[in-house]
Amino acid sequence: VTSWQGKNITVAGLGVSGISAARALAGLGASVTVVDGGDSEGHRAKAAELAGLGVSVRLGDAATLPEGTGLVVTSPGWKPDSPLFRAAAEAGVDVVGDVEIAWLLRDSRPDRKAAPWLAVTGTNGKTTTTQMLASILRAAGLKTAAVGNIGTPIIDVVLGDEEYDVLAVELSSYQLHWAPSVRAHSAAVLNLAPDHLDWHGSMEAYAADKGRIYEGNTVACVYNVADPATERLVEEADVEEGCRAIGFTLGAPGPSMLGVVDGILVDRAFVENRQRNAQELAEVADVNPPAPHNIANALAAAALARAFGVPPRAVRDGLRDFRPDAHRVARVDEVGGVVYVDDSKATNTHAAEASLAAFEPVVWIAGGLAKGATFDELVQKSGKRLRGAVLIGADRALIAEALARHAPEVPVVDLDRTDTGAMLAAVREAARLAEPGDTVLLAPACASMDMFANYNERGDAFADAVRELAAGSA
Ligand code: ADP
Repeated sequence: VTSWQGKNITVAGLGVSGISAARALAGLGASVTVVDGGDSEGHRAKAAELAGLGVSVRLGDAATLPEGTGLVVTSPGWKPDSPLFRAAAEAGVDVVGDVEIAWLLRDSRPDRKAAPWLAVTGTNGKTTTTQMLASILRAAGLKTAAVGNIGTPIIDVVLGDEEYDVLAVELSSYQLHWAPSVRAHSAAVLNLAPDHLDWHGSMEAYAADKGRIYEGNTVACVYNVADPATERLVEEADVEEGCRAIGFTLGAPGPSMLGVVDGILVDRAFVENRQRNAQELAEVADVNPPAPHNIANALAAAALARAFGVPPRAVRDGLRDFRPDAHRVARVDEVGGVVYVDDSKATNTHAAEASLAAFEPVVWIAGGLAKGATFDELVQKSGKRLRGAVLIGADRALIAEALARHAPEVPVVDLDRTDTGAMLAAVREAARLAEPGDTVLLAPACASMDMFANYNERGDAFADAVRELAAGSA
């Protein structure tokens, strides 16, 4: 166990995770300084609060390493080449994230044993899968929490008074980058598509950070059969003896896989009764919503739970109990025989492709900030499902060009508006293009910040517009 007494630690950023790390480490006797480039009233209020706990805060300078720093703790969003981390590297000082700190502190409470971690990463579906996993574990009567990239800061959960049997841990590629010693019981990589490459520098570096999640796994490394890059990461990982590679597939499963047969989720990897070669877990209809990408998420969650010894029945009950967070393929309403679906959380092309695959014919509302993405592959794969497209936002021309190249027959409304009424106009245009039985899907494939504060606001604007449409047609 590391001794934190008197250790000089610099924490990057006064965000939720930075404050959580600073409090915890100061509580263990470390001498903590938080640095933040901002210097607003809000920053100063937080600094005053931390001062009361013996934490010093340096505002207005996020770049220079405080004298005598022995360890730097990062925050999500800080790039690996931030000046502070470069200064640390030059000084030979280690840089780690809050997840690493949580891992190092996991058995610092003498009154109990540390809970094992079941970990989830991937480009898309992390939050959903982690929450499904927590729901399944709960249905099995286990005390658990969904943590990491979601919910209560992970350090607070590890040190808090609640005692857990197991943790469902969502890990972003950033968090994995800065968490070298985490060793999960079992872990899953859901999929790998280009995203955040500006942060990681390259696809190889991004994949390598994701692959870290398998290092030192003891029971199972769960991969996506349809995404060979995830299986390669398992092959490259250094795991404990006896740890198994477990695949999940939307088709019939091979040995050591979970999959789908005749509308039933089945498990051929963890079969208790040796007379049988597959264990039935749940029906596709138990998955909420039963879209293909989400069935994949359910299989990954089931694989981790089964690796932990959860019985088949709890998988079914946990999936039935699960309710997705808002703005993730959420059905808003039906107006004039057309169903309106909000997938505002589809902020990249890989996510939008997954939700478009769940509907046909579909009128697609898309656009926003492209973050350097290209749309050719998405339109090539999904173009034939489209009844029409309504484009909004700053980078809509990129999508319009891809549609013209690969699906020239699809009618496109290019909406040159960014005012508050733009989403209502988009929904009205979509309603005009749609025919009864169609779906109107908001799956922007882009970030929202050109028109909205975040994807939640964008989804709320869509739902409001649909309600207004419904009121007008009633
Ligand atoms: P994350 O936490 O990785 O951002 P979420 O669970 O919040 O993922 O889902 C974000 C969006 O990604 C969803 O709204 C949906 O559009 C899409 N998505 C979810 N699961 C998958 C998957 N397995 N493959 C592709 N896209 C997915």
